[in-house]
Amino acid sequence: MRIGFGWDLHKLEEGRKLVLGGVEIPSEKGCLGHSDGDVVLHALTDALLGSLALGDIGDHFKDTEPKWKDAKSSVFVKEALRHIKEKGFYVSNADITIILEKPKLYPFKDKIRENIAALLDLTKEQVSFKAKTKEGMGEVGKSEAVESFAVVLIDK
Ligand code: MG
Repeated sequence: MRIGFGWDLHKLEEGRKLVLGGVEIPSEKGCLGHSDGDVVLHALTDALLGSLALGDIGDHFKDTEPKWKDAKSSVFVKEALRHIKEKGFYVSNADITIILEKPKLYPFKDKIRENIAALLDLTKEQVSFKAKTKEGMGEVGKSEAVESFAVVLIDK
């Protein structure tokens, strides 16, 4: 049994799409990034890679590579999952937290959870998705950035 942890933060800018956990959320601001900027799936990818000490998302998907420009971050998750399965492991569960001031994610949480479960070949019960705010404090609280944390447990 092994554990993996991932964290990511992206700047929020007007005119960018806000894609979180593969779900597009209506918002004035979206994540700046080379790919679609999906901070949730980036944290999850790092957690998956970290569980087997396979480096980080930047080692596998360089943000200078044109092929990852505006790429769907689900590609990164699927690739990290492929490595895990190749080594004879499966994901037991994932626990993910996002910290975002606005918009409120309450109406989208279930869809995001379902989407992540499908990406990881898991049931919804194996995936937890929690949304928090920073109560107006710091960059995240001022809606200048969005942050996400992910933990996964894998087993043989
Ligand atoms: Mg990122």
